[in-house]
Amino acid sequence: MTTSSATDVRALESQHVLQIYRRFPIVLERGDGMRVFDEHGRGYLDFISGIGVASLGHAHPGLARAIAAQATQLIHTSNLYFHPLQGELAARLAALTGLDRAFFCNSGTEAIEACLKFARRYWHARGETTRTKFVAFTHAFHGRTMGSLSVTWDDHYRAPFQPLIPGVTFADANDPGALASLVDADTAAIIVEPVQGEGGVRPISTALASAIRAACERTGTLLIADEVQSGSFRTGEFLASPTFGLSPDLVALGKALGAGVPVGAAMLSEKVAEAAAPGDHGTTYGGNLLACRAALVFLNTVDAGMRASMAATSAHLFHGLRGLADRHPDAVAEVRGAGLIAGLDLKNDASAVVNAALERGLLVNRTSTTVIRMLPPYIVTTAEVDEALDILDAVLATA
Ligand SMILES: *Cc1c(COP(=O)(O)O)cnc(C)c1O
Repeated sequence: MTTSSATDVRALESQHVLQIYRRFPIVLERGDGMRVFDEHGRGYLDFISGIGVASLGHAHPGLARAIAAQATQLIHTSNLYFHPLQGELAARLAALTGLDRAFFCNSGTEAIEACLKFARRYWHARGETTRTKFVAFTHAFHGRTMGSLSVTWDDHYRAPFQPLIPGVTFADANDPGALASLVDADTAAIIVEPVQGEGGVRPISTALASAIRAACERTGTLLIADEVQSGSFRTGEFLASPTFGLSPDLVALGKALGAGVPVGAAMLSEKVAEAAAPGDHGTTYGGNLLACRAALVFLNTVDAGMRASMAATSAHLFHGLRGLADRHPDAVAEVRGAGLIAGLDLKNDASAVVNAALERGLLVNRTSTTVIRMLPPYIVTTAEVDEALDILDAVLATA
């Protein structure tokens, strides 16, 4: 184990690491369950879990054992050869999503790239070569690579990298009636996060879900669900889409699925999958043994017992957050979310509250300027929820 002073860490980074992250001023060296520890051994209650990734908490013994064992056996083969774990993981994901084919990759943005490409590939295979457009939504976040960025809404992320891929329009997520006019016979796919994450923890409305279904039925356009953040049981069910009445043709997965090991997946319906042929797309690392092993441990660990506990903890969390909203009406505008993704939307910039929470030993983050976002590991208990709520209560009292 290394112990390095925060000053050394920061000095070295400031010289050699590309300066594109605004980091909190702590150096994390170790984790255990719901907690991470800095270089002085100070513990923090982790309610962000590396942006929804450390879904089983930190240093999970079963995951650690499995990936250590896998590392001593075989980590990587590339996709030139078969190995025993891709098919096994794909079958599990097919059963969970109702989509029969998996393409494995290493991140959320790659899963989105794959979905965008396979949507285009589908129409191309059908001879509809002008059917290339995508319709996304206001406040959407789909990733940072050029394709994903093209369907990401925030102009701060987009502007420096224009021109992005053409033919993308953004429908107002708050105006379901406006969607129909943007979707036509040249729309390859609509892409939606059922619960917008980076956009401020905003579940789509039932009216928007109906408008999406109607547009798909009217034009035959494909539906891509970005479940990188909302999926993998984060909102309760494996996918959030069906709870909104949506049946996507393609689904992007990432974040929680690897429990900390980089894993992404694009799930495709058989109809879309049939259009793809060898050579159309690919990846060197995607679906390697280590990544598949981690995802299988994740799926085995999130059993009925854990899901029941998550549901109870979620209810406790949202009850508590609504209590906070009642006690601090001048500070809190709204509570949003589902399962173990929660947003406390403040009336002002959330930075001060996030920083004060960190000083008191609680990790949460700010998104969409005013929103305090919580994405705790799935092992979170009601006692830990109370601990987090107490800290937020104290911080909001001084906000
Ligand atoms: C995080 C996220 C992505 C991008 O995932 P990366 O692993 O950072 O590339 C895409 N879509 C949604 C909804 C996300 O939350």
